[in-house]
Order: sequence, then structure tokens, then C-alpha cells
Amino acid sequence: MTPAVLADGLLVLAAAYVSLDLAKRLEVRLKGDTLGWLLASALALGTGLWGAQVLGLSHHGLTYPQAYHPALTPAGWLAAVVVMALGLYLGGRPGRPIDTLLGAVVFAAGVVLTEMGFLLALSPSPGITWLWWGPGLAAPIAWAGGTVALWLFSSTKRRAQASWRALSALLMAISIVVPQALILNAADLGHQTGMPLDGRVASGTMEVLAGVGSVLLLVMLWVVSFMDSRMKASLLRARAEMQSQSLRDPLTELPNRQIFEGMLAQAFKRADATQAKLGLLLINLDGFKGINETLGHRIGDRLLREVASRLRALAQPHMVARQGADEFLMLIPNDANPQVAAELAASILVSLGKPCLLDGREASVTCSIGIALYPEDGGASALIAHADAAMRFAKSSGGAAYCFFESRMVDGFRDQAEVLRDLRRALAQGELELFYQPKIHAPTGEITGAEALMRWQHPRRGMISPVEFIPLAERFGLICQLGNWLIDEVCRQIHAWRDTGLRMRVAINLSVHQLRQPDLVERIAKALHANDVNPSLMTCEITETVAMEDTETTIRVFHQLAKLGVSISIDDFGTGHSSLSYLRKLPASELKIDRSFVLDLETSEDARKVASAVINLAKSLDLKVVAEGVETEGQNRILRDFGCDQLQGYLFAKPMSAKALALWAMDDVGPRTMNFRDSLFKATRPAEP
Ligand code: C2E
Ligand code: CA
Ligand code: CA
Repeated sequence: MTPAVLADGLLVLAAAYVSLDLAKRLEVRLKGDTLGWLLASALALGTGLWGAQVLGLSHHGLTYPQAYHPALTPAGWLAAVVVMALGLYLGGRPGRPIDTLLGAVVFAAGVVLTEMGFLLALSPSPGITWLWWGPGLAAPIAWAGGTVALWLFSSTKRRAQASWRALSALLMAISIVVPQALILNAADLGHQTGMPLDGRVASGTMEVLAGVGSVLLLVMLWVVSFMDSRMKASLLRARAEMQSQSLRDPLTELPNRQIFEGMLAQAFKRADATQAKLGLLLINLDGFKGINETLGHRIGDRLLREVASRLRALAQPHMVARQGADEFLMLIPNDANPQVAAELAASILVSLGKPCLLDGREASVTCSIGIALYPEDGGASALIAHADAAMRFAKSSGGAAYCFFESRMVDGFRDQAEVLRDLRRALAQGELELFYQPKIHAPTGEITGAEALMRWQHPRRGMISPVEFIPLAERFGLICQLGNWLIDEVCRQIHAWRDTGLRMRVAINLSVHQLRQPDLVERIAKALHANDVNPSLMTCEITETVAMEDTETTIRVFHQLAKLGVSISIDDFGTGHSSLSYLRKLPASELKIDRSFVLDLETSEDARKVASAVINLAKSLDLKVVAEGVETEGQNRILRDFGCDQLQGYLFAKPMSAKALALWAMDDVGPRTMNFRDSLFKATRPAEP
């Protein structure tokens, strides 16, 4: 391949590439500025095509001098540009295959006819006799190559990439150069004797014009295209940047509240359509203001970024956003339920609780989390506000906690929050105490054991009833801590009593949350073992409602407890809806008739019927029956007559301190009478140390 042939090929390739580079802006509809791009593109391709004709002839090796017609030659150039414009108009826009095919036909016709016209315009003598295989082969080659090139170029995705454009350009260049060479050879100029020279442009001049002029024009067009692309790209980047700036929080790069609300709105729609549930967590750092003030805003910012990255790590597949200052939002987008939300909240507390290095110092943050579920905790408009209320509740109870939304939080939640905060302190500082209420053997009146009941002597509020603080502890995940403390304390107490010669059975109350605690049985076993207490001395009271929740967990725990050797008592019996067959399956050994039935025994025939039925039922199931809340002699008599096994109530003794119980039990002599009560009530006060 001679340098001239190479230059010829490169010129066409460059022209095709520049042409396509310009044509990539063409759209389906031709508007003002795209028309300009079409013309520029056609100018590049037409010029390349024409330049290749001149250069092709120059290295064809003719033995006689050549010269160009001063009018026909530029006319040929113009014709090439116009035909290519038409070809690119049809085949250079993205879209329909039929246009691509038509475009390629025009392109091929342009390549073949302009070359033939170019040679004819030279008017060699004696005159060209075409060898018809030339155009006959050239046309299909130009058309096939053009079709593939334009087809590749018709995809908007491919035309945007330089490599695909280059491939199209290469195909296009081949479908120009090869047909041109075929036609040139088919013109058989070697058998001509010469061509007119007078009044014509010398071949040297024309070759310089075709070579240098074409290259200059192509460079110019390419620069225009390049500058335009650059400008458009930076404009696009700036716009995208601006958009993401307005959607993302610049500090943490998390979506901002605006975007989150958009996602939330979509999630609501999906949830409504599929009956799914959503969970919203609002996370607020505890004491962030203090960190900002003492360590400075720079450190504060760094902390926020760290928190954001930890939340992001936990977020999959949930969504996380920064809602403002030190506040974040997280969405559980489907199948949310309290357990899933609680687990997520707990893992957030753990993750954020891990220390992080700030300015060479290790710092750790805690956070307060409010949880609201959709749809039960409010509709789309209220959900964030309700998660916020729950968060404030968690925060005012001392922080480092999560809390589910409850409707009463939106009014007067402060009081409860304060109680909760104090309860944590009470637990930590040993302000809680256990009182024990005896259970009496009905026929003999002897004490058979005691029930441990929690007492909280609040420094300002005085005695707070477990009826008040136990449900609060259950709701805020504190009940297990309370329960664990109680288990240890009861075992310790049984051991201490035994040291004074008192063998006392103790019943403890277990909450449903404790049953879900994975290590409950293990804890009880450990506490019994550590205090050297025989498991048969412990009874676990579980309310009927909880026991009847036929969950695998409940049943498993029941059996584990029974296996341990601990007795099980069904508390508050009669308030739930027990199924007899289910009851038989439980390894329980005792039923406690609820106080509400005992209360009405003397006045209501119905209550008497229920009580007697329950006692008979229990007997048939081989269960002991305890009646709780026995306050009067009348109730006492009726229950004994029904054959109730054990009695518990103010008639015999109120809950009392461990010391008082020891004194009371030592004194335990025979059946109790009403006269006995005065002394008993005295004993309910905590014994003097
Ligand atoms: P409960 O398990 O049904 O306990 C019996 C409650 O009835 C106790 O109230 C007891 O003081 C009271 N009571 C006993 N005899 C009489 C009586 O003759 N008349 C009247 N009017 N009341 C009587 P307390 O101690 O206020 O406990 C209330 C509830 O709080 C308990 O009901 C139990 O559900 C819960 N609770 C107490 N301590 C604990 C605990 O340590 N853990 C758990 N999970 N719950 C506890
Ligand atoms: Ca109980
Ligand atoms: Ca009870």
C-alpha cells in the first residue's frame, strides 16, 4: 500500500468519523439547529468523498497529464455534499429500519454516481467505455456497507459512544473507498490517450486542495463538534449536580427529607395496593448539641457522617434519609411488624453505640428511636409526626432506647416518660423491692408459699403500683431487665430464708416478653443453681391470656420450665378464653381463679357457678386451684366449701416484706380466724431492720 493510498483511506475514514460525530446530534424531528448539524455532517462526508476521488486518481498511475474542469469539479463536490445530506437525513437519524435502508440506498447511489460523474468530467479521449462489472459490484458493496454502518449508528445508545461511532465510520469509509476503486478501474483510463488541459486546473493544485483543504475543513468541523460536546456535557453535569444537590444532604450524602417523603408516598401507594405494612423509624442522636458545643462543629459534622454511614450499612433493604440536624429517618418498605421494627431499632442502638474515633478521641453516641407503623399508627400525613412523638418519648425517658408510638403520646406523654426514666434509675440503683404475699392451704390454713410482687418506692411520688409500671416496662423493653433482677432476687431470698430455717416456696410472675427472651429458662436455672435452690421451690405464674396464645415459643418455654422442675401456674384464670383440650396439653400444675370472680362470690349466683365449675374443671385435669383476692370471711367459706385448695388475699395477709413474711410464717399456727387479721396487717409494714 503506497502512502498515497493510505492517505486516501485515512482521509475518508476521518471524514466519515467527523461526519458521524456531527450527526450524532440528529433527532427524529429535524429542527433549526439540528438542520445545521445535518449540513455540517454532510459537508464533512461529501468533502471526504470528493477528496478521495481526487486522491484516488492521483495514485492511479496514469501516464498522461491530468487536469480538472474548473466548474464541473466543484459542482461534483457540491453534488456529493447534497447527496450525502439526503442520505444522512434518511439514515443518520435514530429510528426506523426502513429509513436506514433508504439512507443506505442514497448513500450508495451517491458514492457510485459521484465517482462516475467525476471521471466523466475529466472527459478523457477517446472516451470512457465502462466495464459494467465496476459499478455493478460497487453499488451493492456501498449499499451493504452503508446499511450496516447506518444501522449501527441508528441506535441512540450506540451513537453516543465514540467506539461504536468509529466502527460505523470504518464501515462507511470502506464502503466509499472500495466502490470508488472498483469504478476507477472499471473506467479503464489506462486505455485512454489523454484529457484536455487548456483552461483547466492543474492536477497538482487540485490534489493540494483536495488533500490539505479537506483536512483543514474536517479539523475545523471536528473542533466545532468537540467544543459543542464538551459544552453540552458540562452543562448536563452541572444540571445533574444541581439536581442531586437539591435532593441529597450535602454533609452525609443521604437523601434529604424531601426525597424521603417522595419515596414514602410511593411506599404508601404500594402498601395500600398490596395490603403490606410499613415501618417508620425516626432516629435522633442523644446529646448531639453538647458534642457540637464542646468538640466543635467540625467534629460534629464528622460524627454525623459516621452515623450516616453506619445507618446506611444497616439500611439494606430499608431506606434511610437525613431529616435534619441530628435526625435520621428509616423506612421498612414492606412486611413491617413490631418485631421486625424492634429488631432493626435494637441493631441501630448497637451499631451507633460502638465507639468512633473523633479527633483522636474515642466517642460513642446513643440515640433515641421512635417507631410508627403504617397503617395502624396513622396515615401518610401523620406517620412522621407520630414517629417523632415516640422518639421524644424515648428521649425524655433517658434516651438510648426505642419506643413504639401510642396515641396517648401525643397528649400528656411527659408524665409517663418521666416515670420511665426514673424506673431505669430505680433498677440501676436498687430502688425496687420485692414483697411477698402468702398462699394459704385452705383446709388447714397453713402457709404453703408466697407470691413475689414488685414494689417501687419512688423518692418523690411515693409507692408506685406494679399495675402502673409493669405495663410501662413491658412497652419499653425494660421488663426483661426487671424480670432478670427479680429471678436473682427471689432465689437469693429463698436461700436466705432457708438459712434462718424457713423453707418457702415462691411464685414469680412472668410477662409475655420474658417468655420470648431466648435465655429465660437458662437464667432461671442459673439463678437456682447459684443459690443452691431446689427448682421445686419455684412456681412461675403466667396469665391465662398469655398461656393460651398458642405460639410455639410459649409451648416450648412451658416444657423447658417443666423439665427444669419448676411448677407452672395459670394466673388470672377465667379472664381469657381457654380451650380445655389445649389446657390439658400444658404442663401446668395450678390454676389461679381471677380476683374478679372471688369478688362477687357472695352477691352473684353466676360468680359462684363459675367458681365451682372452674374448681371442678381443675380437679378433673388434676390441677390445684388457688383463689386470689379473698377479702371476706364469706368468700373464704364459699371457696372452702367448693373444695378450693389454696387461698390468697387480704383476709389472710397483704403482700409484705421478706422480713415481715419470715416473722409471720414462724408464727404460723393452725387455721386463721378473723381475729388474726389485726396482727397480720401490722406485719404487712416492712419489718424494722
Ligand atoms: P397478680 O399477679 O394477679 O397479683 C395479685 C395482685 O392482687 C397483687 O397486686 C396483690 O397485691 C393483689 N391482691 C392480693 N390480694 C388481694 C386482695 O385481697 N384484694 C385486693 N384488692 N387485691 C389483692 P399487685 O402487687 O399490685 O400486682 C398487680 C399485678 O402486677 C400483678 O397481678 C401482676 O400481674 C403484676 N406484677 C406484680 N409484680 C410483678 C412482677 O414481679 N413481674 C410481673 N411480670 N408482673 C408483676
Ligand atoms: Ca400473679
Ligand atoms: Ca392474678
